[in-house]
Amino acid sequence: MRSISVLRPLLLPILLLAGTAPVSAKPLSDAEAEKLEASVDALSPKLSTIAHDVWNYAEIGFKETKSSAELQKALHDAGFHVEPGISGIPTAFLASSGSGGPVIALLAEFDALPGLSQAAIPEQKSLGAIAGHACGHNLLGAASVTAAIALKQWLDQNHIKGTIRLYGSPAEEGGFSKVYFVRDGLLKDVDAVLSWHPGDANTASQAQLLSVISGKFRFKGIASHAAVAPERGRSALDAVEIHDVSVNFMRQHVPEGTRIHYVITDGGDQPNIVPAHAESFYYVRNYDPAITQDVWDRVQKAAQGAALATGTSVSVEVVGGSYGDLPNDTLGRIVYANLKRVGGFSYTPQEAAYAATIAATLPAQRVKSSPEEVAPYEQGHKVPASSDVGDISWTVPTSSLGTATWISGTSPHTWQAASASGTSIGVKGAIVAAKTLALTGAELFLSPDALAAAKAELTQRQGSDFIYRPLLGDRKPPLDYTDKK
Ligand SMILES: [Zn+2]
Repeated sequence: MRSISVLRPLLLPILLLAGTAPVSAKPLSDAEAEKLEASVDALSPKLSTIAHDVWNYAEIGFKETKSSAELQKALHDAGFHVEPGISGIPTAFLASSGSGGPVIALLAEFDALPGLSQAAIPEQKSLGAIAGHACGHNLLGAASVTAAIALKQWLDQNHIKGTIRLYGSPAEEGGFSKVYFVRDGLLKDVDAVLSWHPGDANTASQAQLLSVISGKFRFKGIASHAAVAPERGRSALDAVEIHDVSVNFMRQHVPEGTRIHYVITDGGDQPNIVPAHAESFYYVRNYDPAITQDVWDRVQKAAQGAALATGTSVSVEVVGGSYGDLPNDTLGRIVYANLKRVGGFSYTPQEAAYAATIAATLPAQRVKSSPEEVAPYEQGHKVPASSDVGDISWTVPTSSLGTATWISGTSPHTWQAASASGTSIGVKGAIVAAKTLALTGAELFLSPDALAAAKAELTQRQGSDFIYRPLLGDRKPPLDYTDKK
C-alpha cells in the first residue's frame, strides 16, 4: 500500500483560495457567438438522434459497444481522427482535430446504470432492459460530441490554430476509465478540459467532489456440514460480518465528512454448508484524498482482523479510485458568462405537463429551479458525490457545467432521471450544454492569458508538493466489473 504522506498536504491550499479574481478572456463578438450557436442548432437533430439511440442501447460500463461506435462515427464523419481502444479499454476512444495552438479537450460519457431501466414517461415503468440512463450519460456524450464538431467547424472556418480533442470515456459508473487516461499520460499536453453533466438546473458553479476508493474483500474459509461437523468448518461469511461490524464501529472515529458504504456480494451458498467463500464490496470517500486513503487502509486492516478472528484468509482487490473534482474558478467564470449568454430554455405545454407529473413524485423542495434560469455563480460549493473527472481536474485545468436536463428536484440514479434523459427536455438541456461548451472552447482558443491563469490556479490548488498518484494504484481497467459473477 502506497504511503499517504505525499498526499496529505494536497487539500490545504484549496482553503486559501478564497476569492479568485475573474480573468478577462476574449469573448467572441455577438455576431461570432450567434454564428457558433447557430452551428450547434444546425447539429441538434444529430445530437437528438445520438442521445435517443444511446438512451435506447442503455449499455453498462465497458460494454458500451454500440454507444461508443455511434459517437465515434459521428466524429469520424465530421473529419476527426479517431483512435479507438485507448488505455487498453475497448470502448474508450480519443478523437482529435487540428494541430498546434492551444489543446482544448471535451469528455464524453455514455454508460448506463444496471437495474434502472425506465420508459420515457412520467411514471415508474421498466422497459425490461438490464439498465437505464439514470445519470443522463446518453445526453452527456451526445452534447460533448456536438460541441466538438461545432468547434472543429469554427476552427476550420476561421483558420485558427488549435487542437480540439474529445476523450470517449466509458464506464463512469464504477469503471474509472478517465483515471487510466490520466495514469497513461494521455492528457499531459491538454491546456483545458471542459466537462459537463446532466442535472436539474443550469449552473456553472464549480463544485468540489469526494475522492473515493472502492474495493472487494474476498474471504476464504473451510466448508463443512453446518449441523454434522460445524467444528471442522471456518466460515467466510462470519468474517464478512465481523469485518462489517468492525467498520461500523470505526465510523465514530473517522474524520468528519467520511462516507463508508458496503454491500455483501457473496454470502455463501446455503445454510447447511459452512460458507467457504464470501465477499463484500466497499466504498470509502472523503473530500481529502489523503483521508480517503487513510480510512481505506484502516478498513483493510479490519479485514485482516476479521480473518484472524475466524480462521479464514482474505484478499483485497481495489476496484477503483478517483480524486474528487477540483474546482477551477478561472474557467468556471468563463463557462458561467457563456451559459448566461446561451440562457435556459422553456417547456412546451406537453413538456410542462410531463414535468408537473414527475414533480409530484419528487420530495418537496425548498428552492425550485426553472429550466429558463441560470443559477448565480457560487464559489466554494461541495457536492457529496464522486466522478472520475476528479483525476483529470487535479492534473489539467478543468471546468464543469450542469444543465436542466431533468425536472427540478430530480436526483441522479433515479427513474425520474432515466425518464427525462430519454425525452425532448433532456435533449433541450443537452443543446444548452453543447452551445455553452462550444462558446467557452472558442473563447479559450483565443485567450492564452485565460489558459495561463487557469493553469496558475490549478498549480496553487495542487500545492507545492503535489505528485499525482492514482488512488486505484497500478491495477488494470476492470473490464469485467459489471459482469454478474
Ligand atoms: Zn453521471
